[in-house]
Amino acid sequence: MNHILSNKNFNIALLGGGQLGKMFLAEARRLDISINVLDPSPNAPARLGANHFLQGDFKDFNTVLKFCSGSNAVVIEIETVNVDALEALEKKGISCFPPSRVLRIIQNKTRQKTFFKNANIPSSPFASYENLKSLKHSISNGNQSFPFVWKISEGGYDGFGVKMIENEKDTLDLAEGECIAESLVDIEKEIGVVLARDKNGEIRVFPPVEMEFHDNANQVEFVICPSDISEEISNKCVDLAISVAESIGANGLLAIELFISKKGEIFVNELAPRPHNSGHLTIEACNVSQFEQLLRCSCELPLGEIELLTNAAMANLVGEPDHHGSIEFIGLNEALKVHQTTLHLYGKSQTRPFRKMGHVTATGKSIFDAKERAKEFKSLLKIQSRDL
Ligand code: ADP
Repeated sequence: MNHILSNKNFNIALLGGGQLGKMFLAEARRLDISINVLDPSPNAPARLGANHFLQGDFKDFNTVLKFCSGSNAVVIEIETVNVDALEALEKKGISCFPPSRVLRIIQNKTRQKTFFKNANIPSSPFASYENLKSLKHSISNGNQSFPFVWKISEGGYDGFGVKMIENEKDTLDLAEGECIAESLVDIEKEIGVVLARDKNGEIRVFPPVEMEFHDNANQVEFVICPSDISEEISNKCVDLAISVAESIGANGLLAIELFISKKGEIFVNELAPRPHNSGHLTIEACNVSQFEQLLRCSCELPLGEIELLTNAAMANLVGEPDHHGSIEFIGLNEALKVHQTTLHLYGKSQTRPFRKMGHVTATGKSIFDAKERAKEFKSLLKIQSRDL
């Protein structure tokens, strides 16, 4: 008998109680592992299913230290947690997933891109700027040429904090703060690779998926598995993902977002050291999900050998444009009639334009079939607000 699963005092502290936490908790319940959750919102999606829920600020050093001190392991589901507190917890012998050292690099896009450069990881060239003023200065003295992709170093998510800049006018409404200016990649496909790495350096890689973006929202709309790329490119993506995980010293999950250029080059776009939107379909499509792999890492259980059981497509279900306020589902009954689909709702009471409110995973005989079902489901269900 494994001592952790039979030890009722074994406990994981989860920092962040959003949808990633909610799905992590579902696996924890199944495996009977006890989890305490910290989140600032009293209505956090992961408040249900937690053994103990505390409303509090995961960005605050003392709150995190106190909340996690009695736990055997700490898991994050959002990158903005207090990393100094994680470091202090590690010094007390509590393992953190990801380790504080990894999170510190990933939390800041300038540090992340500098890490890629120093580790010889292919990623598009960039320049870094301490603030907007120095970026604008560099433009006006001709050192920074157009076009480029502006990215805020900290605090961006789901495309907020990223903008294509073609001329000086485009820089007028950029947010203040440290940033990078990245060369544009002529993107053919965007690929996601999620992997788990345990403390012994064992790695299990989920099949590469293809991420399709929404035309206006700069946000992933569909994820397709397996990705429609040659075996050769797929193997190269997996090898690159493994080398990134090894050079950064990942422990727990690591999601690697890749660009494949029109010329067939592969670039690392960015990393996420936690469950990732591109791995949600592993719940239905694989024998072991990304959430279970993270649990196994944090409990020091052996990682699962991954088998892809079916073709799958996931669609993010987001709030309709122009709708803010209390959530209302339109067309739910019709959507639920679409065959081979599984709906996940995140339990958020308030909708906003393009806010992720849930997702649907569809399976099928081919990736085309699966995607058609996911599309149909998504077109039938609208997430609106009663308040508008
Ligand atoms: P976020 O952290 O908000 O997800 P990303 O860095 O992933 O931001 O960028 C969001 C999207 O912007 C990418 O998925 C891609 O479509 C586009 N993008 C980002 N960097 C580049 C680039 N260098 N060249 C072309 N498109 C890019």
